[in-house]
Amino acid sequence: MLDTPAHAVGAELASSPPAQTAEEIPGRVPYAVGWQCPGFGILEIVSDDYIRLIPADKNWQPTPEAAASAEAYVAGLFSGPGDDVWEVTSTFYDQVTLIDAGGLTALITCPLCGTDITEWCFGLLAEYRERIGTKNGTFPCCGKTLPLDTLQYDAPVGFSRFEVCAMNPFRAGQWELGSEELAHVADLLGHPVIQIIART
Ligand SMILES: [Zn+2]
Repeated sequence: MLDTPAHAVGAELASSPPAQTAEEIPGRVPYAVGWQCPGFGILEIVSDDYIRLIPADKNWQPTPEAAASAEAYVAGLFSGPGDDVWEVTSTFYDQVTLIDAGGLTALITCPLCGTDITEWCFGLLAEYRERIGTKNGTFPCCGKTLPLDTLQYDAPVGFSRFEVCAMNPFRAGQWELGSEELAHVADLLGHPVIQIIART
C-alpha cells in the first residue's frame, strides 16, 4: 500500500516544507507522515477558507461608511502578532445573492420531504449561479413549487445583498468570530449579522 502512486503524490507535495523522515518520527514510515499529518495533507495546501458576514435580513444593506467600519474591524481581528488574513472585502450586490459554503456543502435536501436533491440543485446552481435565491423551482421529489432559498444545505449558507468577507483568516485559537465579535459587527453595520463559513 505504501508505495502506491497516491502515497507517492502525497509525499511529493509534503516535501516543501521538508518532509520528516521515518528516523524523526519513530514508528512511522516516510510516506505515512505526509498522509497522516493534517498540516501536510493535499487539502491544506490547495484550499482557501472564508468568513462571510451577512445581514440577517436578506434585502438589507448598510451605508458605505458602516460597511467600511465593519470591514476595518474584521481586518483588525486578524492583525495581532502571528495573525494573518489574506484580504478583507465588503461587497454590495444588486440582487439577493447566495452566500455559499463552497466545498463544505455536500448535501442539499428538500425542505418538505427531506429527499436528497443535491444533483438537481447543482444543476440549478450552474444555471442561476448566485441568483438561485431569487427564483422559484418545482422540486423533483414532491412536485411542490417553492422559493429556492428554502433548500436545506448541510453546511449553512445564506442569502443577502451585502457581505463582509475575510479570506484565509488565521489567529491563535478559534478563527471564526465569537458572539461578542459578531455583535460588534452588527453594531457597526446597524443590523444583526450571520456568519457563514466557506471553503474552496
Ligand atoms: Zn420534496
